[in-house]
Amino acid sequence: MKAAIITIGNEILSGMTLDTNAAYLSQELGKIGIEVVLKISVGDRPADIGQAFKQALAGTDIVLCTGGLGPTSDDITKRVAVKFFKAKLKLDKGTLEHIHSRFAKRGIEMPACNRGQAMVPNKTEVLFNPEGTAPGLLFKKAKKILVLMPGVPREMKAIFAGSLKERLTALSKGMDIRVVTLRTTGIAESAVSEKLSGFEKELAKGALAYLPTHLGVDLRLTISGKNLSVIDNKLNDLSEKITGVLGHVIYGKDDQTMEEVVGRLLKEKKLTLTTAESCSGGLIADRITNISGSSDYYLGSAIAYSNILKEKMLGVKSQTLRLHGAVSKETAIEMANGVRGRLGSDLGLAITGIAGPGGGTDKKPVGLIFMAVAGPKGTVVEERRFLGQRRHIKESAAQAALNMLRLYLLK
Ligand code: ATP
Ligand code: MG
Repeated sequence: MKAAIITIGNEILSGMTLDTNAAYLSQELGKIGIEVVLKISVGDRPADIGQAFKQALAGTDIVLCTGGLGPTSDDITKRVAVKFFKAKLKLDKGTLEHIHSRFAKRGIEMPACNRGQAMVPNKTEVLFNPEGTAPGLLFKKAKKILVLMPGVPREMKAIFAGSLKERLTALSKGMDIRVVTLRTTGIAESAVSEKLSGFEKELAKGALAYLPTHLGVDLRLTISGKNLSVIDNKLNDLSEKITGVLGHVIYGKDDQTMEEVVGRLLKEKKLTLTTAESCSGGLIADRITNISGSSDYYLGSAIAYSNILKEKMLGVKSQTLRLHGAVSKETAIEMANGVRGRLGSDLGLAITGIAGPGGGTDKKPVGLIFMAVAGPKGTVVEERRFLGQRRHIKESAAQAALNMLRLYLLK
């Protein structure tokens, strides 16, 4: 099996940047029995990049490219590849979530240009970048593979050492590979790992990856082998076993989102929903309405941020607010009952909490959230605590509330 490496960037041609990426990739490919027969460095010019793709693919099975995946206008590699492979760009929700959470962790707003990094070509596989915002992208063309990775060495290495190395190893042995992602929420990474300790031996080394974000822990299962149907059976068997152990903490598979799953359940059960949001400021409504067809089951939301609106829109008693506070079990319950009763839906979902950084006390710290679901079978309430920046807490709270509704619907 033969490979080519393309490094992209004017700074490499000018000698300002030493091309350590090519050296690293050559060494790594050598270790897994793939011979590098061609290296090309090109500047940031579309015609040159396209020409390099063509030349590299003509003589090899695998082409690894680095550079030019950043969010700025001089980063053009993806655009050239989209044209070259006649692909179209679509939004990858997982990547957008990942980019958002990286900025949230640093406590800064995501610049608009970073959204472009979550636009990925169809017909490609997205390779997770734990060290940065631009994911790797894997294109396939007639049994050949071309992979785009960011130029920053740390990010390139993280992507290569993640799923790519494994996959190329399998390919070089004439093997195939299948991947499935099981999505969990409401459980810590360490708790998942503890529950699965019995299976980890059963899995080949490195075949189960934990991908945690503030919204939950994704479990990525990778199986390779010579026979596709054998791989598929093994993968199904393992994902069934894992599902058996973890049960309802798994809410979806691959790129399914929580709002999709909740929407499907509401539709199946022919139930309508309204929401009452305080600390989440409409995030839940936003997520639910991201699903096309949500008007079948979703009536809308009351963003009752102030006490006045909690009273006026939802009928929360002023006495409740005075005695227990806006962030309390009692208020959450009255919000859920109020939105359900006043707006006339089968179910009401309510959330109230302290997103911080100000406003916390010893008894009610930043990150304290109460959420309630009101329905025909009564009203249930839950308390949760989250850590992190304001945006993080809002997003975590919205996810937890949607998950609470999902579990209510499954009962
Ligand atoms: P960014 O998001 O930072 O813009 P990118 O994928 O667009 O990432 P480039 O803009 O091409 O990548 O390069 C980013 C930085 O990574 C460069 O300034 C350089 O320091 C380093 N770099 C790029 N290519 C290589 C290489 N082949 N070898 C070593 N370092 C490199
Ligand atoms: Mg760049």
